[in-house]
Amino acid sequence: MMAKKLSPPTKRKRPIERLPLVDKKVEAGMFHAIAELGNDGILVFDESHRIEYANRMASEITGYSNEELLKMTILSLLDKPHQSFIEDLFLHPDRYGEKTCTEAHLITSGSEVKEAEVCIALAGTSHGVRKGYAYLKDITDRKKFERELKDSEEKLRRLFERVRHGLFISSKEGRFMDCNQALLDMLGYADKEEFLKVDIARDLYVNPEDRKILRERTERDGYVKDMEVDFKKKDGNKITVLLTGHPLKNGKGETIGYEGINLDITERKRIEDELREANEFFMNLIESSVDGIIAADMKGNIFIFNKGAEALSGYKAEEVIGKLHITQVYPPGIAKEIMKRLRSPDYGGTGKLLPSQFNVINKEGIEIPIQLSAALIYNGTGQEIASVGIFTDLRLRLIMEKKLQETHLQLLNSEKMASLGKLAAGIAHEINNPLGGILIYSSLMMEDIPEEDPKRGDLARIVQEAGRCKDIVKSLLEFARQTEPKKEPTDINRAINDGLFFLVNQALFHNIQILKEFDPFLPFVKGNASQLKQVFMNIIVNAAEAIHGNGTLTITTLPSPDRKTVLIEFADTGEGIPQENLTRIFEPFFTTKDIGKGTGLGLATSYGIIEEHGGKIGVKSTVGKGTTFTIELPVQPQMQPILEGQSLQ
Ligand code: ADP
Ligand code: MG
Repeated sequence: MMAKKLSPPTKRKRPIERLPLVDKKVEAGMFHAIAELGNDGILVFDESHRIEYANRMASEITGYSNEELLKMTILSLLDKPHQSFIEDLFLHPDRYGEKTCTEAHLITSGSEVKEAEVCIALAGTSHGVRKGYAYLKDITDRKKFERELKDSEEKLRRLFERVRHGLFISSKEGRFMDCNQALLDMLGYADKEEFLKVDIARDLYVNPEDRKILRERTERDGYVKDMEVDFKKKDGNKITVLLTGHPLKNGKGETIGYEGINLDITERKRIEDELREANEFFMNLIESSVDGIIAADMKGNIFIFNKGAEALSGYKAEEVIGKLHITQVYPPGIAKEIMKRLRSPDYGGTGKLLPSQFNVINKEGIEIPIQLSAALIYNGTGQEIASVGIFTDLRLRLIMEKKLQETHLQLLNSEKMASLGKLAAGIAHEINNPLGGILIYSSLMMEDIPEEDPKRGDLARIVQEAGRCKDIVKSLLEFARQTEPKKEPTDINRAINDGLFFLVNQALFHNIQILKEFDPFLPFVKGNASQLKQVFMNIIVNAAEAIHGNGTLTITTLPSPDRKTVLIEFADTGEGIPQENLTRIFEPFFTTKDIGKGTGLGLATSYGIIEEHGGKIGVKSTVGKGTTFTIELPVQPQMQPILEGQSLQ
């Protein structure tokens, strides 16, 4: 420590200028005056560190009085490391004139340690005496403030680091200057160093245009808030963030970078997307339902009205949603009744309505029968928020049901016919022989009775009536024929002509015009010619009887467009059949004719024959205008008409 002998201050770097005063006393006086005025504590000490002078501030800072200080050394005011700092000073003559500052702990009078800035300067006097000057500044407050500042900086840093949203500071050129762990995690980077090398526009933005937009907006508005941006993670995967940020400016107000916060909404978006998809799915489901689906809020405002509802009601959804009240969908009072049932436990449980039949009113004001299933919709807290109903159009179903009922009736009818047929056949068979006997014996008796005998007339009557009975029995037997007749390729045009041949000469037909519109290339049907002839004759006779004198019967034959069946039409201009009889005319024994004139078996037999041929027979009629019977018969497979034999008409 004491190796070097101290030399006078020849090598001073910043010499303390000596005042150009001669009078030492004045010089000292001036110095003291200045020293007392300053805000620093000033101590002057000698080579053995004894304090020779202390100003008022020095007392204030150290807590020692001036007298006390003048009995102390400068070292006793300082903590250990700084003591040696001062001791060292006197050993280094090159430091003379230099001011050396340090922060030190001052040991004050109450043993209280104060933080102080201590600046020491050494100076040599003209007499070679060396003195030390110490300037003391109490920096306890400043230190405290600095510590607090550091503390709050640390707090901020901690916040920056710990926030789970991605924080960043970036340069204008497009590099990150700083970021927090959350941003690294969000973008999949392991460490900051790697991340700070990222070229933001190129490596980070899925769409580099976005960064341009961001820059423009921050320039224009001073910030961006919640701008949706897609970022590339390190592994190339995409994330979506909401970016909020603002520009960083230098003193001249120029933008030098940006700082901000990124909120990862990838998951939220995924859920939103899923929700939207699910929503779309349900909307599609609702839309594609054939049934009408209508939902209304608790005020009765309709907010769902699907295609099915449009088809049912004739309204378009846009005419209904927000415009039509749910009560307008139903006849008066029904909407209320439905709500009552929905809230009651008796119709499928509270909040539900099991399928029930109601009417709705369509756009034209017509009531349409529907089946309604409905439900109330509740929110999380169990409050009613909406009602939804599924409407099935019952019109078609009701028609179907009616048809089914008819078919059922028809079936019953045909069963009835079959059993009647059996009964009739039995009776006919039984009375056929006795009837034959009556006819033969009465005929024989007739031969024996002379022409002029009055009994002969009665006998003739018996023969005639017995003949009629025989006819009835014959047709009964035909009606009830159980065996399947032989079927061959049959020319329908010919069968009709054959039938007409027997009839046209009868008195009944004298004033009737018969028009034949036959298709010359009519395919053959698979059938029994004599049975079919009988059917045609039945229909032709009925027509003639309905015409009562003057009129026309038009008979048309034609193949169906696909040539699989043959259509035969008998259109007369007769009296027609009243509606209530139309369904009954095919019943056996149904007749409107006088007793003895009609048997009511003609059409019943015809019906049976056509059915048995796999064909159909139908009728249309207008009272006063005429009647048309239509027969459809299947053609004989693979049979072409013999063209030569066709021109029979
Ligand atoms: P019938 O001729 O013995 O009365 P059908 O079975 O042949 O028995 O006919 C039943 C009934 O159908 C007739 O009594 C008549 O009322 C009605 N009918 C049939 N054909 C015609 C027709 N072309 N025009 C008007 N009524 C008809
Ligand atoms: Mg008849």
